[in-house]
Amino acid sequence: MKESLWATSENLRALLCELVSWDSRTLTEGERFFAPKVMAKLGELDYFRDYPEHLAMHDAGLGRSAVTALYKHPEATETIVLISHFDTVQTEEYGVLEPLAFHPEELTKKLHDHKEDLSVEAREDLESGNYLFGRGTMDMKMGLALHMQLIEKASKEKWPINLVLTTVPDEEVNSAGMRTVVTELVRLREEYGLTYKLFLNGEPSFSQGPADNKEYIYSGTIGKIMPAALFYGKETHVGEPLRGMTANYIASFLTQRMEWNERFRETDRGESTPLPVSLQQKDLKTQYSTQTPYRAAALYNVFLFKRTAAEVMDLFAEVAREAMAECNAHYQAVCEREQLKGVGEVKVLRYDELLSYALNKLGVEEVNWHKQEALINEEWDDREKSLRIVDNLMIQCQELAPATVLLYAPPYYPAINSSDSPLVDQAIKLVQETASTFDLTVNQIHYFNGICDLSYVNYTDDAQGWTAFENNTPVYGETYSIPFEAMSELRAPVLNVGPFGKDAHQKTERLHVDSAFKEMPVILETLVKSMF
Ligand SMILES: [Zn+2]
Repeated sequence: MKESLWATSENLRALLCELVSWDSRTLTEGERFFAPKVMAKLGELDYFRDYPEHLAMHDAGLGRSAVTALYKHPEATETIVLISHFDTVQTEEYGVLEPLAFHPEELTKKLHDHKEDLSVEAREDLESGNYLFGRGTMDMKMGLALHMQLIEKASKEKWPINLVLTTVPDEEVNSAGMRTVVTELVRLREEYGLTYKLFLNGEPSFSQGPADNKEYIYSGTIGKIMPAALFYGKETHVGEPLRGMTANYIASFLTQRMEWNERFRETDRGESTPLPVSLQQKDLKTQYSTQTPYRAAALYNVFLFKRTAAEVMDLFAEVAREAMAECNAHYQAVCEREQLKGVGEVKVLRYDELLSYALNKLGVEEVNWHKQEALINEEWDDREKSLRIVDNLMIQCQELAPATVLLYAPPYYPAINSSDSPLVDQAIKLVQETASTFDLTVNQIHYFNGICDLSYVNYTDDAQGWTAFENNTPVYGETYSIPFEAMSELRAPVLNVGPFGKDAHQKTERLHVDSAFKEMPVILETLVKSMF
């Protein structure tokens, strides 16, 4: 038997640095090349030399792939799915140090010459020698390295349990990787007769503020959805402003009511969702002219704990109706003051209502043509395509204007929570006990607040609230979809246990060395072993 590749802290640290050195920023070439590299790396294990068919890549679109690696004990059926993502965010903010962003050892050394650019906390952490800086160290190549170490150990020591290491691209943008791999996990289960017992993600423990050095374990993940609106007013020339209504005017009423709206706040087990904000508000004119902007769009971010897409759409529609009533009253007062008839009241309708109106009026073929026209534009992302489909249909149905059309724009991350699971409860206690042998306190958080891929497993919406998402997302089934049915087949509790780090997505992203290379390997091994 060959020696272990990744068993010692030194080897694990070298593995992390190698994974980080494979630049895999989301939507770059590196993200496409990462999967074959990690396949080759896993292929160095004796186990995968014997069972190469247990290693597989799965097309996740745009040339990217997700990877699954199954360690199967001959008798065991119980299975833990280990989840990680290998894409990272961009690196511009590193400035002159950007070439070192993917070389943690060198970067951490070099940062001593650039201390003046660091925050007080980051400087102290650097000087402590207890942190490794670099893009992807914390978020989350360390999680992947730990899972690789686990699968090596399990296969060498023949642990009587199965592990499916799952590592995916695109978590930082649209989660195309995880949405692809969900159906593969269902297929693997059938093929090998697996019983999924736990979905274990390895996202890092995020500090809850600059001075927070506590470590966390997460028994669920927050959800996120993006209600959006297309505002369609009436065009006019700037010289005759009273003959039209700008879309900006209409939009302002909805945005006022959406931002920080506490009706969207959900509270569960002492935790609350952050309030909504707008992520975008713009008119759709592509260049300056003296024609007034009569089409505009806005995107709002809404976090979720329990609500379904259907419930959020109902609430969004309620807020939109109130906003438009206010807009209409305000406009009515202007009309009275100026003694005008006006352009009419702004209506509120949902995308599914607009679509059936357009199908009735134009027929399937023409509607599809207007959809395709937006879908084939390669310059536009899924959000822009969504808005442009609505825009194209409204141009064909101007008799509905002025109007505010409500829709969903991708991505959608359902909230998932396993705090009530006895297995998760025991697992958390065990992690806390093990951590205490290192003098560490680990606190439980019920909803991981960083958005993660656990949103796509253990889906339990029996009321089918997701159909409201399918029906109101213009690009749904074209350039974006969510495997809701496969997700609801993957019923097992979720848990996130990962190393401690700070400042994810910033140039001071850093990983706590002892947590990553000493404590986490023991904690994870103890946790997995407790399952058999
Ligand atoms: Zn992450």
